[in-house]
Amino acid sequence: MSVHDHPAHLLPHALPSYLNPDDVGPWGTYLQQVDRVTPYLGSLARWVETLKRPKRILIVDVPIEMDDGSIAHFEGYRVQHNLSRGPGKGGVRFHQDVTLSEVMALSAWMSIKNAAVNVPYGGAKGGIRVDPRKLSKGELERLTRRYTSEIGLLIGPTKDIPAPDVNTNAQTMAWMMDTYSMNTGSTATGVVTGKPVDLGGSLGRVEATGRGVFTVGVEAAKLIGLPIEGARLAVQGFGNVGGTAGKLFADAGAKVVAVQDHTGSIYNPDGVDVPALLEHVRSQGGVGGFPGAQSMAADDFWAVNCDILIPAALEGQINKDNAHRIQAKMVIEGANGPTTPEADDILHDKGVLVLPDVIANAGGVTVSYFEWVQDFSSFFWSEDEINARLVRIMQEAFAAVWQVAQENKVSVRTATFIVACQRILHAREMRGLYP
Ligand code: GLU
Repeated sequence: MSVHDHPAHLLPHALPSYLNPDDVGPWGTYLQQVDRVTPYLGSLARWVETLKRPKRILIVDVPIEMDDGSIAHFEGYRVQHNLSRGPGKGGVRFHQDVTLSEVMALSAWMSIKNAAVNVPYGGAKGGIRVDPRKLSKGELERLTRRYTSEIGLLIGPTKDIPAPDVNTNAQTMAWMMDTYSMNTGSTATGVVTGKPVDLGGSLGRVEATGRGVFTVGVEAAKLIGLPIEGARLAVQGFGNVGGTAGKLFADAGAKVVAVQDHTGSIYNPDGVDVPALLEHVRSQGGVGGFPGAQSMAADDFWAVNCDILIPAALEGQINKDNAHRIQAKMVIEGANGPTTPEADDILHDKGVLVLPDVIANAGGVTVSYFEWVQDFSSFFWSEDEINARLVRIMQEAFAAVWQVAQENKVSVRTATFIVACQRILHAREMRGLYP
């Protein structure tokens, strides 16, 4: 009997019905990245299918009462991509464009990222399809609490630990921690990270992702002979990640010449006053209308004359339509999944060095790990200690993937996937299949 005689669902690699092999969204991007790494996995390639299907997907209905008395329903997700190396770990995103494909990809990138910096976690991610800017604070709190209750089946300090992501923050985490604690009957600070410092949060967590972006950027710049002093930066997204990275680069002597976010695109060839821009973003909600720069067409942002480009917003921003216009020598991915595989190839052919999300933005989850350890031991570290440990982990992890990239003549993304997939699949193999 040949495989052709089997019904489709009995074929060894038949996909579950909810996985579309032709996914053109973020999950499709992730699958292409896995395909690129498979030839480098040696005997572990036997397990590679594990990476191509999430371990668990939970889709939840999140009904809340709105301030006007009506009832609104939102769709929420929690995906645990892989738990071979430890509990699930990854943020929760509130955005109107959240889809299952996106949350699956984000959960998978967390598996890769956590393995790349060798924190003892698997990968997970959550999200709600909602525009949080349209909700009042009370509505947001009810949404967060109901979502937390709905995903309560999966989360827990030793099971799966959410954290902030796009449009969620320390307040969101405080509500999540409180809801989980109320439901379980004891205060469980370790169920989420990125909490307020007074509730078991860690010093340095807010800036950690941006600090990691900066650290990896500085290391790579040394390797390609790009001086930071005087370097021109373009940053997309000037929130927690882009804003912190922009500030650290500016403090080190770089000039932030262009910034784009959902409120506009601004340009100043002499470099913007970064603290003033951060204050403008805080008070106005975005970079649009910043008086210390001229505004520019959104499309032209990609063609700005710069040395370093930091996409720190959403997926798929650098794609086949704009990649050829990029002038930068180095792209540092503060966002998750900002570059499509086609764009990766275009940038590679142009000689642009891409520092991928799965290493460049791993500073956030690294300090999340420190927070979780501090919560378990109820012993809190100083900010200097946290930053020093963060920088050391980022430098060492980056040096390791850089070496793999040189040895195998592959991109830093593929090198990071090689290191991470080997760790994940080795753990998978050692644990074996149960039952
Ligand atoms: N949301 C962040 C990320 O994409 C942090 C996740 C975490 O700290 O668990 O890496």
